Amino acid sequence: MLKYDEALRTVEDEFGKIKLEAEEIELCDALNWTLAEDIFADVNLPPFNNSSVDGIAVKFNETTRKWKIVGEISAGNYSEVKLNENSAVMIMTGAKIPNYCDTVIPLEEYELKNGSAKLNDTAVIKPGMNIRLKGSDVKEGELVLKKGVQLNPTNIAAAASCGKSRLKVFNKLKLVVLATGDELIKVEEKPTGDKIRLSNNYGICAAINGLNQHATNLGFVNDDRNVFKNKIENLLSSGVDVLITTGGVSVGKYDFVKEALEEIGVKRKFHKANIKPGKPVYLGIYEKDEKIIPVIGLPGNPVSSMVGFYVFIKPAIEKLYNQESAVTISAVLQDDLKKNDSKRHFLRGILYKEKNEWKVTAKLSQSSGNIVEMSRANCLIVIEERKLNPAKGEAVECIQI
Ligand code: AMP
Ligand code: MG
Repeated sequence: MLKYDEALRTVEDEFGKIKLEAEEIELCDALNWTLAEDIFADVNLPPFNNSSVDGIAVKFNETTRKWKIVGEISAGNYSEVKLNENSAVMIMTGAKIPNYCDTVIPLEEYELKNGSAKLNDTAVIKPGMNIRLKGSDVKEGELVLKKGVQLNPTNIAAAASCGKSRLKVFNKLKLVVLATGDELIKVEEKPTGDKIRLSNNYGICAAINGLNQHATNLGFVNDDRNVFKNKIENLLSSGVDVLITTGGVSVGKYDFVKEALEEIGVKRKFHKANIKPGKPVYLGIYEKDEKIIPVIGLPGNPVSSMVGFYVFIKPAIEKLYNQESAVTISAVLQDDLKKNDSKRHFLRGILYKEKNEWKVTAKLSQSSGNIVEMSRANCLIVIEERKLNPAKGEAVECIQI
């Protein structure tokens, strides 16, 4: 059985073979997409020297304390004004500075009287103050955004100031999620007898959307090998990038998912990783016409399938797009925990900050069937393979979810 690290590396390697294409989208729609081009400044930013305050623009000199006001310039309304060392122009924030001036005195520093501005006694004036110089943010031709960044709101504003109304971005992956199980019924139905509602597809699809990828919830099929095979065969030729199944990957009599996948040409990369929960995770690869489709079989237990998504699929997608995985948070464990095996455990925890220190409690049900309890957690507490019975007060790493 693979160790977690080896299994993760395998998933990352296989996802790494997916070819990302570039497409062009509207700037307004670009939040969280990954930029597929470098963006350079097409102008200096700011494009002209301008005032950072409301006040008067003057040419600095050590002795002058009073200026006659000979004009006014507001943002976007520049006009030439004749000035000398005893005259000044009223200027507003963002307005272009006349060539003659090198300093802007904020209005709190002077008093206006009879058309003149007289410095207050306490005023301290420094040459060059309150001027935002042309090109001081970025110079024309300089790199503004590098290919590969995941666009945040300020990146989008920066692109706008460089004149980019459309951006080249890497396409989203199309991930489809299909559950298996005779016990499953639709969310809209009320379970009776031995049925349960389909839940894990929804969590996984939401997590996919949270990574700014494209999720399709295909619902479920019953534990019927042929129906499953037919469905998967159709899916594999429908243009999907990644196929995720849930349930039926364990070793029970009706756990036919691995064999069924392999009967239609999926090649096994691994089955089972030394983790808890989610040990029976399966990774296979389907190759056709130079396209490589990873097929991941997650166990059906809702907690196990969510954990499988967070610890395998999420990091592999982030790596494919060259994004840094969110850093884990080191926190002080608040409970004594039981662990007497050599698996890597991912416990559901509640992470919180107290007196500037991160703390985490695992006082939640750790049953892999209890999705409601998992929904109260905000992290997975990672307990490494070698670690046994971690004790209250020890530092543990937490993956925020
Ligand atoms: P399996 O991995 O198919 O052996 O299923 C393990 C457990 O997860 C069983 O208790 C199933 O009833 C439950 N389960 C399987 N699939 C789902 C699903 N899609 N949503 C919620 N629970 C599920
Ligand atoms: Mg099942």
